[in-house]
Parts: sequence; C-alpha cells; structure tokens
Amino acid sequence: YGDYNQRIDYVFKVVLIGDSAVGKSQLLARFARNEFSVDSKATIGVEFQTKTLVIDNKTVKSQIWDTAGQERYRAVTSAYYRGAVGAMLVYDMTKRQSFDNMARWLEELRGHGDQNLVIMLVGNKCDLGSLRAVPTEDAQEFAQRENLFFMETSALESTNVETAFFTVLTEIYRIIS
Ligand code: GDP
Ligand code: MG
Repeated sequence: YGDYNQRIDYVFKVVLIGDSAVGKSQLLARFARNEFSVDSKATIGVEFQTKTLVIDNKTVKSQIWDTAGQERYRAVTSAYYRGAVGAMLVYDMTKRQSFDNMARWLEELRGHGDQNLVIMLVGNKCDLGSLRAVPTEDAQEFAQRENLFFMETSALESTNVETAFFTVLTEIYRIIS
C-alpha cells in the first residue's frame, strides 16, 4: 500500500452499466476515492479509475470503467465490454424505468461480455427510502432468476458501496484462482 513499486498479482476489469443518472459515476467516485459530489455533471471523458486491494494475500488492481455519458441502449461500444470480468448493473431505486431497463442492459452485457462474467445488480440511492419505486423483492427475484448478486447501495451515504465492489472482486478472484 502506497508503494509505487508494489507487485500486482491480478488486474480485474469491471464495467459499470445502467441508465443515465442512476449514480454510476458517484458509485465509482465513492469506491475509488471516497468522494461524492452533489452536482455531478454527466460523466466527462475519464474512462476508468483504479483501486488496489488485497484479497487472500494477493494484490488485486481493480480497473473500474464508467460509460462516459453513452448510456443509450446499444450506444456503449464493444470495446467498453472487452476484457471485463465483472459488471455492476446499476438502477435507481426511485426510478422504476431504470430497473425495468435492467433486462436490456443485461442482454447487451451478456451479448458482449465473457461467459464467466460476475455480475452485481445494484439498486442505488437507498438513502431516498421514502421515494422508493422498486421493492427489494422485485430486484431479488430478478437477480435470482438471472443468477446475479444483488445489493442496495447509497453512494451518497456510502452504504454497501465497498461491499458491492468487494463482493464482485472476491468472486472473480475465487473463479480464476
Ligand atoms: P450516472 O449518470 O449514472 O453516472 O449518475 P451520476 O453518478 O452522475 O448521478 C446522477 C445524480 O444522482 C447526481 O445528481 C448525483 O448526485 C445523484 N446521486 C448519485 N448517487 C446517489 C445516491 O446514492 N443518493 C442520492 N440521493 N443521490 C445520488
Ligand atoms: Mg456518469
């Protein structure tokens, strides 16, 4: 940690996908830098951020890709998915449509991605509980049917963000090691 010459045992590419404004960029900012900005603009330019962590005494560098504002269906290019071993499928739990679109995102992801892709369904903005439009059970059912991990998060309040990424990275590690 903090050593620029540290040995990296693994590099895992994980992609963030889901509708615009569900909180993908803020989830990434929270995970990679422990930051949140209230007035986040549509993502500009940055392709990915990295965070290095230790799993089972191995140094794992996670490379988390953000969609840079191309969140329309079929607008995300295959280069984005290439080489990904994990994915965070993000909806906004206060926006039913963003959850209903998960099936299309998943189809697109599975069309491009690796067979063994580890996928986490993420219901973000759980701090806005009174505005909830997606019951936990609906998401659980979808996740179970599609064989996805599932977690409700808040990038704002830092709820479950690390756990969500860590769960995916640990599962990837478990599969490839
Ligand atoms: P993206 O388009 O999916 O990258 O979404 P952003 O990360 O840019 O977030 C869209 C909006 O939702 C911004 O105004 C964020 O401040 C807000 N937002 C993101 N995550 C949360 C969260 O966990 N809780 C709340 N209340 N707002 C959030
Ligand atoms: Mg964004």
